[in-house]
Amino acid sequence: MNPPESRKEKAQKIAANPSAYKICEGCDSIVTLVSVTCPNCHSFRFDSSSERVVEQALMLGSREQNSVTSTDLF
Ligand SMILES: [Zn+2]
Repeated sequence: MNPPESRKEKAQKIAANPSAYKICEGCDSIVTLVSVTCPNCHSFRFDSSSERVVEQALMLGSREQNSVTSTDLF
């Protein structure tokens, strides 16, 4: 019965734990570190630097819906 997490809350979670995520080099999606290919563009090249993950999470969190799907975060 929890309300759905807002984009901002997801972004803050990611930013608080950047080592669990990486950035797709193809489309800049944030994906979990265990992902082998990007769910959006099927790229297999990622940047796992924490700085970049935090930066991207905050950027996505500050943006409003529709430009990316909710699944790209997980
Ligand atoms: Zn991608």
